[in-house]
Amino acid sequence: MFEKNVVVIGAGVAGLTTALLLSRKPGYKIVVAAKHMPGDYDIEYASPWAGANYMPVSIRNTEAAEWDKNTWGPLEDLAKNYPEAGVHFQDCEIHSRAKDVGSATAKWFAELLSPSPWFAKVVPNFRTLPKESLGPGIDSATVFTSVCINTAIYLPWLVSQCLKNGVTFKRAVFPHVSAAAASGVHPNGNVDVVVNCTGLMASKLGGVEDKTVVPARGQIVIVRNDAGKMLDVSGTDDGDGEACYVMTRAAGGGTILGGCYQLGSWESQPDPNLAVRIMKRAVEMVPALTNGKGIEHLDIIRHGVGLRPVREGGVRIAKERIEGTWVVHNYGAGGAGYQCSYGCAQATVDLIEEACRDVRARL
Ligand SMILES: Cc1cc2nc3c(=O)[nH]c(=O)nc-3n(C[C@H](O)[C@H](O)[C@H](O)COP(=O)(O)OP(=O)(O)OC[C@H]3O[C@@H](n4cnc5c(N)ncnc54)[C@H](O)[C@@H]3O)c2cc1C
Repeated sequence: MFEKNVVVIGAGVAGLTTALLLSRKPGYKIVVAAKHMPGDYDIEYASPWAGANYMPVSIRNTEAAEWDKNTWGPLEDLAKNYPEAGVHFQDCEIHSRAKDVGSATAKWFAELLSPSPWFAKVVPNFRTLPKESLGPGIDSATVFTSVCINTAIYLPWLVSQCLKNGVTFKRAVFPHVSAAAASGVHPNGNVDVVVNCTGLMASKLGGVEDKTVVPARGQIVIVRNDAGKMLDVSGTDDGDGEACYVMTRAAGGGTILGGCYQLGSWESQPDPNLAVRIMKRAVEMVPALTNGKGIEHLDIIRHGVGLRPVREGGVRIAKERIEGTWVVHNYGAGGAGYQCSYGCAQATVDLIEEACRDVRARL
């Protein structure tokens, strides 16, 4: 059997999950080549900054909902059976305030805020919380069992699973997507398919330059305090670009306090005023974080900023020939790169297989 040679550009959650699923198939020699790798923290590398949890905002009957749906099973399996992956179960409460109806966040969260979202039958224990149990200012709420991923463990775990399956890794910065097919990149010489998992930088990568991919800046505070559950609210009183969510990562990863969704901002440095607002909102929503003692009792590990790779029209999973090479794209997951990771990676693998069949047919 011919070995099919594939180069995956990008070692974020999209590139690593795609490489992992492809490496489980026989006959592929895969190289993951990227500017940033797990262990790095950089503004061009979204994956380490994510919470990361499963909290679908995709609209029912769309491809995006299908990808999210297809991701729940693998994440649930990891939380149940592979503690070394750094994924654990946590209850996830979604709080709704009537005053947020019509706001940008509430529109974005429309499906999530619904009392009967499409994923109610996918995740375990979905239910509506009784009105009398809700805190001040909250008009309705739902809760379900979700997962929270410790990205500092999970990304290296994905690398280790790929290595076990024979995938090789190297650092590279490609000015143009076709440079990944040049000699010297793949140990076998020729490259059948290049997979583009460059996230936000797909907006700048030669041959792609997708200007519909823009950053949605997210600022977080990581603390040692434990919230015991995940919470998210439909809006804040501090403006449309601001959000309030809390989640505790698996295996000592700390608790993430968020956040914001600043579309178009590339600012890499934390804004100290925003950090204070994030902490104030978090302890107001979950007083148990500091036993009701206020933000002075938050024990900060660090402040962080990441850029969600938001694409108009959603994730791009498509194949095309660029300068004679088959390129399969998987980029633009916005704020959902983990919760759609397995669904998107599987759809990408299907296209890689199609492209490889075409390459062989031409020989
Ligand atoms: C604050 C915050 C909170 C989030 N919370 C969640 C959450 O709870 N749940 C969830 O599902 N998602 C969440 N996300 C979104 C998630 O982090 C992203 O959707 C996801 O990480 C995108 O992954 P990616 O692999 O597409 O891109 P990235 O992680 O950015 O990886 C891109 C890769 O491509 C490489 N690359 C780019 N250009 C080149 C080039 N020219 N040459 C070589 N290599 C290149 C980079 O070096 C990197 O390795 C959050 C994001 C942020 C910022």
